[in-house]
Amino acid sequence: MDCLFCKIIEGTIPSKAVYSDDRAYAFSDINPQAPVHFLVVPREHIKSTAEAAEDHAELLGYLLLTGAKIAREKGLAKGYRVVINTGPDGGQTVDHLHVHILGGRHCTWPPG
Ligand code: 5GP
Repeated sequence: MDCLFCKIIEGTIPSKAVYSDDRAYAFSDINPQAPVHFLVVPREHIKSTAEAAEDHAELLGYLLLTGAKIAREKGLAKGYRVVINTGPDGGQTVDHLHVHILGGRHCTWPPG
């Protein structure tokens, strides 16, 4: 499958890992939008939240909890933003579900 994040998970495209286990992989975003910006992805290829099935419910929760765990380890005690862009109108540019964690600065709202 020609998927950028599958290749990053496999290691055929290099990335700066921040976490890895048998279900999830997290790595620094190549174009950070905050002092701390990393992505948490499932090892399983799921295109987006729109394509996720009911039996992915636990995995989706696990990705959020993994992001929270890494954020704690990175000292983001004042908070952080969690973003899951979905589909073209949602601003998704890589079709492998990913959770953005952005921290280390104050995030404004609305995001635009
Ligand atoms: P999306 O726009 O799909 O929500 O987010 C995709 C993210 O992947 C973007 O923030 C972009 O900077 C990041 N990205 C795209 N290509 C690469 C890459 O090759 N390596 C890494 N580490 N991040 C990437």
